[in-house]
Amino acid sequence: MLRVKNVGKTYANNFQALTDVNLDVADGEFLAIMGPSGSGKSTLINILGLLDNDYSGDYFLSNENYKNKDDDTLSQVRGDEIGFVFQNFKLLKSYTVYENIEIPLIYSKNKTITDRKNVINEVIEQVGLQGKENSLPSELSGGQQQRVAIARAIVNNPSIIIADEPTGALDSKTSLEIMKIFTHLNETFDTTIIMVTHDKDVANFAMRTVHINDGHLYNDGEDVVHS
Ligand code: ADP
Ligand code: ADP
Repeated sequence: MLRVKNVGKTYANNFQALTDVNLDVADGEFLAIMGPSGSGKSTLINILGLLDNDYSGDYFLSNENYKNKDDDTLSQVRGDEIGFVFQNFKLLKSYTVYENIEIPLIYSKNKTITDRKNVINEVIEQVGLQGKENSLPSELSGGQQQRVAIARAIVNNPSIIIADEPTGALDSKTSLEIMKIFTHLNETFDTTIIMVTHDKDVANFAMRTVHINDGHLYNDGEDVVHS
């Protein structure tokens, strides 16, 4: 279980972006986070993804408190436990599909070349990109590029996928296909998915939706207080 308790975030300009955020995400849960632009979604997801350690409150992953751990420990945990998917894919332009997916494995010392090939081919099949191994990102549609990003996110077999507006740059038909992949990963491997989205149809794929407004988090069914 991932749990944040009483989390607050104040930026250097004294802007308070999050106030007393409490959130539990169970293992194997598929959670959507919704909220208007500027409400604090990216701020929260950076904390949940252990990318930002400069906040008040506590962060527990499997009962271990990561709040005051050093950067090396955090990057280790990120590499082992978390896969990231972004709105704009963030693929390396001069790398092929295969090479983009291989990147996280370069740092995992305990895999032979054969093991690497097997796991890369496996995730390419999971996201339906067989035959595209040698293509460059520029030769792919947006939906295909996001499939590459998802394959890269899962190649280290993370327990959690963090997705920040994964369908924000895609049309609605392609968005649906991407959400089917997330659902498949969630159901088949019990991968926890934490997804930020603006899109109600996309959020409907999640088991639960929480809402952020002005840095306050509201659970399903709770009334959002509009200021
Ligand atoms: P969202 O992802 O929901 O659009 P963000 O988490 O990016 O919202 O931002 C929440 C609020 O914090 C916004 O008002 C934004 O302007 C502010 N903010 C974000 N990053 C910074 C920063 N580095 N310094 C100051 N304010 C920031
Ligand atoms: P998003 O689309 O994810 O909400 P934003 O456009 O809000 O992204 O922010 C992009 C980047 O700019 C983020 O890294 C965020 O931290 C930073 N940022 C956002 N608002 C501010 C701000 N008011 N002052 C400084 N940095 C900001």
